[in-house]
Amino acid sequence: MARPPIDYLYYLRAEKLPHMWCPGCGIGILVKSIIGAVDELGWDKNDIAFVSGIGCTSRAPGYMDMNTLHTTHGRALSFATGIKMVRPEKHVIVISGDGDATAIGGNHFIHAARRNIDITMIINNNNIYGMTGGQFSPTTPYGARAATSPHGNIDPAFDLVELAKGAGASFVARGSVDNARMLQKFVKDGLAHHGFSCIEALTNCHTQFGRRNKMSDPIKMIDWIADKTVSINKAKRMEAAELEGKILTGVFHNDPDKLEYTDSYAQMVERVQAKKAK
Ligand code: SF4
Repeated sequence: MARPPIDYLYYLRAEKLPHMWCPGCGIGILVKSIIGAVDELGWDKNDIAFVSGIGCTSRAPGYMDMNTLHTTHGRALSFATGIKMVRPEKHVIVISGDGDATAIGGNHFIHAARRNIDITMIINNNNIYGMTGGQFSPTTPYGARAATSPHGNIDPAFDLVELAKGAGASFVARGSVDNARMLQKFVKDGLAHHGFSCIEALTNCHTQFGRRNKMSDPIKMIDWIADKTVSINKAKRMEAAELEGKILTGVFHNDPDKLEYTDSYAQMVERVQAKKAK
């Protein structure tokens, strides 16, 4: 039987609309995928804590009718860690832009991943600082123009999948806004995962990134994303030369058996109490 259509307004604070994002911004597609994933999982929205830092992406929780926290720049994961430690039975989701997550919040990111705490980190990677004026971020491609790199960025970009895997995240996936169904599936699998899950979403900021790189139209930028991404499965049938410059999408790492941090903490408390009781 077909699923009934999702009542998106049920998950939104209608009184906060209209939103502040530019028309066609990729954050809209990402928010839709998060609502769709939560709805598919059948989670009670009152059991969700949705946390953000600062930036265009970080405005998302303000529109969501859940337990929400809009915190300081780069610090969403530390607030989220506090929530999870106190209420480990709750679902804790962080949404963050690429700069917020991996520059200002880079240290929090690697340590949350290292601990494997049961938080889902959704990174909206639009290759730029959108809200603060279009400065280059750790994911701005080499050679791309930004407000602070008018002659082309010379910093090599982070590969967020490799960063998350290397730091210890137990679920790592990358999707993109040109394939919203796949993106929603990755978000859903990340939410359902017990441990630190990181989902990178390649999205369009046509206003700050696109207009400096000949893609001021959202469709043009989404087409650019579609052109440079290849799914892991398709990549297996392609030659190395064809994959040159492409970005892979898919699930890159999934270790459901890795010890989760709040479980580890509970085990330690049990050990200490047992010792005291002797
Ligand atoms: S500046 Fe970029 S990221 Fe921010 S709302 Fe506009 S398109 Fe979206």
